[in-house]
Amino acid sequence: MKLKKNNLVGNSLINEHLKQIRSFQKKPPKLLINKEYDEFALSIIKKLNDANFNAYLVGGCIRDNIVGIAVKDFDIATDATPEQIRKLFKASRIIGKRFKLVHVYKKNKVIEVSTFRSESANTENNQQIVKDASGKILRDNVWGSINDDCHRRDFTINAIYFNPISHELFDKHNGISDVYDKRIVSIGDPLLRFEEDPVRSLRAIRFASKLGFKIENKLKDAIYLKGHLLTHVSNARRFDEFNKIFLTGNGYKNFCKLKSFGILKYLVHPNQSEFGTLLEEHALKNTDYRVKEKKSVTPGFLLSALLWPRVIERSKIKNKVVFKKFNSAMGLILNEQLSLTAIPRSFHTYIKDIWKLQFKLERRTKFEPFKVLQHPRFRAAYDLLLLRESATSDDSDIGKWWTKFQASSRKTKILMLDDLKKNKSEVKKFGFSEELG
Ligand code: ATP
Ligand code: MG
Repeated sequence: MKLKKNNLVGNSLINEHLKQIRSFQKKPPKLLINKEYDEFALSIIKKLNDANFNAYLVGGCIRDNIVGIAVKDFDIATDATPEQIRKLFKASRIIGKRFKLVHVYKKNKVIEVSTFRSESANTENNQQIVKDASGKILRDNVWGSINDDCHRRDFTINAIYFNPISHELFDKHNGISDVYDKRIVSIGDPLLRFEEDPVRSLRAIRFASKLGFKIENKLKDAIYLKGHLLTHVSNARRFDEFNKIFLTGNGYKNFCKLKSFGILKYLVHPNQSEFGTLLEEHALKNTDYRVKEKKSVTPGFLLSALLWPRVIERSKIKNKVVFKKFNSAMGLILNEQLSLTAIPRSFHTYIKDIWKLQFKLERRTKFEPFKVLQHPRFRAAYDLLLLRESATSDDSDIGKWWTKFQASSRKTKILMLDDLKKNKSEVKKFGFSEELG
């Protein structure tokens, strides 16, 4: 009996070893070999290799290269510890507590270099994976081998390791074939993996939209079942994901997917009204368009649009915006959002300015429009006005008026203001009819 057990252990060890050799022996696709890699990333790998450490590109840069799309950033994984990496590179910094890694700098470039992680307790660096009661990983700094590390990654397509100098490939989870099959597959039981880190559910959705891949059924079920654990994720981390999800070109697709999985509410409260839903759609599509056109996008502007219907809703008494209520509603709605995602301080006044300017854009009294035009937030406020207008059937053409006003000479501007004075009807209430409900 004892012998049999030993044999079994021996066999499984040999199998494991063979599997490991096989993962290294797989031929890398030509796309990976022929690719020209970022000089800085190559120099880091070379320096680590010269110091007798293993080092690989891993994650998005390899995945996106195989798919044939532009690579966003380079991530390097190595068997050197953070301290050893830090010693090798003068311009580097150890960051993170929960997940310690090293940032290596060159001019305005940063590359993340992380040490292979392991699941099992490691006496060498005397560290343990620390989890909370829900199974969420609080600290993950147990070093291991590449073989250990690949089990700690989230999806098979993100666990392909490639050394662009030696052309060594490590693909234990068959990520390459999942990239070819356009599938997002969890490494290990997705229910447990989401308990460890609920942000993985957001990541699955983000990669599905970005790459046009299908999420495997097991993973889908886990998103439905474990999505609620996102409440345990800090609002700072949720803000990071908010930016990646909504400000990188697939915002609207992500928004719809998150909504259908029922987890949008952990990033932003979805609007219920027809006007709110349309405004969300237009704001997100407009952001996606700007990303495509390489124009600047800010989370502040997007939030000002996504939250606007809620501010209006909170400011109304009998279909009329009450200014006193409006002032307190701005703070209330921002605070509600802060319980979901962090918002950097600088954006608080930015968002409130955009909201406050909506009144001035509509009112256009006396010579105020000249002042409004000079306001540092005018452009953003005008953009929100256009979006609001596009989400209603209102025909007051205030947006058009401002488009013309901006482009006109001073003389025409004065004429436009005179016209406005003459044609001004009885006191109008603020807001477009649909948003007033
Ligand atoms: P992109 O940079 O295009 O958004 P990425 O896959 O490179 O995609 P990063 O956040 O840069 O994403 O992470 C790099 C790699 O680190 C991932 O590919 C994955 O292997 C691993 N990783 C990142 N976040 C997690 C996580 N929450 N759980 C497990 N592994 C993760
Ligand atoms: Mg990356």
